Amino acid sequence: MTRVAFLGLGAIGRPMAKHLAPPRSTLTVWNRTSAKANAFAAETGAAAAATPRQAVQAADIVITCLPSSREVEEVIGGADGLLAGMRRGTVLVDCTSGDPATSRRVAATLADAGVAFLDAPVSGGVSGAERAALTVMIGGDATVLERVRPVLSAFGSTIVHCGPVGSGDALKSVNNAMLAVHLWSLAEGLAALAKAGVSPRLALDVINASSGRSNSSQNLFPERVLSRAFPRTFRLALLDKDLGIAAGVAREQKVASPMLQLASELFRAAHTELGEDADHVEVVKIIERWAQVEIA
Ligand code: NDP
Repeated sequence: MTRVAFLGLGAIGRPMAKHLAPPRSTLTVWNRTSAKANAFAAETGAAAAATPRQAVQAADIVITCLPSSREVEEVIGGADGLLAGMRRGTVLVDCTSGDPATSRRVAATLADAGVAFLDAPVSGGVSGAERAALTVMIGGDATVLERVRPVLSAFGSTIVHCGPVGSGDALKSVNNAMLAVHLWSLAEGLAALAKAGVSPRLALDVINASSGRSNSSQNLFPERVLSRAFPRTFRLALLDKDLGIAAGVAREQKVASPMLQLASELFRAAHTELGEDADHVEVVKIIERWAQVEIA
């Protein structure tokens, strides 16, 4: 049985790791807050490790799912870090929505130790993770991907090789920038329509039968905004981080990108205002406050 180590049992990491639990694979988990790893182990039959180093010592494949590339670099280094524990021939699959430059640096460090690296950010949200229906965007060596594909298919229904290391990160950041732009612009539009006397529910029905539709109009607004449920599934802080990456990719490539830069600024301000724990859809509340109208 493949031996897998999974590090980072957050909102999306936890349901992803669950699909890898015995009998599917021999699974060892590590989480910064150890109580979460212990509870996961008790529930699933996985083993819980005390340090990243311990978690990966017997692993063929190591999967990380942390907030950003900064935390990935943190868990790789140090006496108790991944690099101290991984054997030559191991593959590190980083499912963090990371940044391409850091992923390239990490890949180079690991290559010196005989460890292959793939950036492998995911999309599909917590519900996609629960249904094993994530899209996985891979950057790195295509032959390494084929070695680990059976493991990734435990949680990914669409696994796409995007190009060299960093390509998965770059594509994921642009995808999430689109999410952010749709979310924000739809909130502005629906706020204006509500004030003009058009029901947001009716407006969404029409938009969803027309060319302006998006995941925001089809799913997020009906399920989370009209209902006033605003569940916390994907932190605004993380979407802010993704926009920063997308805006950086555009600048690095010298692509004129006023929309991406503005979206990045707006979400940075919203993140500052709403704090670390707010969900991304809660940006709608800021626009509602500016417009003094509720989208309901
Ligand atoms: P969460 O904030 O829910 O979880 C973050 C995880 O990282 C937790 O396990 C946390 O540990 C751990 N962590 C935080 N800081 C550190 C650190 N300094 N050192 C070690 N571990 C740390 O994030 P998500 O699970 O939502 O997101 C994880 C990644 O997946 C992000 O890159 C995100 O952008 C991406 N993503 C998330 C989606 C979602 O719907 N949630 C969708 C698609 C991608 P602890 O338990 O101790 O806090």
